[in-house]
Amino acid sequence: MKEVNAPPANTLVGMEIADIERALGPSEPRFRARQIYQAIYQQRLPGLESISGLPKALRTRLAETLPTGLPVPERFYDSADGTRRYLLKLADGKTIETVLMPEEGRVTLCISTQAGCPVNCKFCLTALIGLDRNLTAGEIAGQVLLLATLHGLSHSEGRINIVMMGQGEPLLNLDNVLKATRLLTDPAGMAIAPRRITLSTSGIIPKIAELGAAPVRPKLAISLNASTEEQRRELMPITRKYHLRDLLEACRAYPLRPWEKLTFEYVLLGGVNDTDADARRVGKLLAGLNCTVNLIALNPGPGIPYETPRPERVAAFQEIVRRGMPCFLRKPRGLDIFAACGQLKRMADQDLVHLA
Ligand code: SAH
Ligand code: SF4
Repeated sequence: MKEVNAPPANTLVGMEIADIERALGPSEPRFRARQIYQAIYQQRLPGLESISGLPKALRTRLAETLPTGLPVPERFYDSADGTRRYLLKLADGKTIETVLMPEEGRVTLCISTQAGCPVNCKFCLTALIGLDRNLTAGEIAGQVLLLATLHGLSHSEGRINIVMMGQGEPLLNLDNVLKATRLLTDPAGMAIAPRRITLSTSGIIPKIAELGAAPVRPKLAISLNASTEEQRRELMPITRKYHLRDLLEACRAYPLRPWEKLTFEYVLLGGVNDTDADARRVGKLLAGLNCTVNLIALNPGPGIPYETPRPERVAAFQEIVRRGMPCFLRKPRGLDIFAACGQLKRMADQDLVHLA
């Protein structure tokens, strides 16, 4: 049987202070856990050996029992537009992808929340992998820690944006996603503002309310991708279980913070969901919601049976939605290296050469 949820052994990255206290045991002074926590998340020290002031015996004991557990970069691919896609290896040999997108004055990291994805959206390459397993909180936050270290990114100056839009459906791994969010945002640790972290979901309705109840949580984006119940069932079969109508109901009930808006993403598929009538229906569906719409023209890939609409069609669609709410077009990043939305399928050298 396929392993879905084999959690790797306990690792230092992924632990909150209380977890470290537990791992140290009652014989250590209380400040020790905080010292280690800050060294890992704030000073980003690569391992216990670099923490000054840690007694040698403790260092040896911890090094034997508690690996750091950062994902290991196996390969990376550079796009002509500056985007870099990393293929990262986890402790059990599974691989995930993380994408770094430099922009003027800041950087956006697109991180994975599962290895693969169990949700079978018909336009997405990650769906073709299926689910390997959930990522641990350490593997989720570890992607940020690793890339921040590799690229010398500063957490606290508001220059890092994080989108949980890599491999996986974050709301099917909510506990670990929330723990990772606490680690990423903790002022005593990585100190990234919650408003700089966005989670995108295909619409796992019961988990939307659970997310809304979490005291520390990312912003919410919903992959709408269709303008009718039937069309969404076709493109995103998960709609059979979680109906579009109920999804919008859950969005209306979602407790937005004063500074927050919902984002709806809409992948435009040529001749399928990109007509003027679709655009008008999207406007109606979302009327009254405090939201923004992000359009994404399909990023193509082998095995995806849809076409990217022409720019004029995209512009016409945007113009109609814009009558009711802010509507932006998301520029694809890293198309040439299979790093753009929906393209994360661990494409490696030989595949890229083959497709060139
Ligand atoms: N699983 C989550 C987050 C990862 S997918 C979700 O589905 O929301 C991130 C975004 O990429 C989603 O909005 C999804 O609809 C979009 N996407 C998937 N495949 C795509 C493709 N081939 N082209 C453009 N966008 C795509
Ligand atoms: Fe999974 Fe999101 Fe891709 Fe759907 S679009 S298969 S939920 S990663």
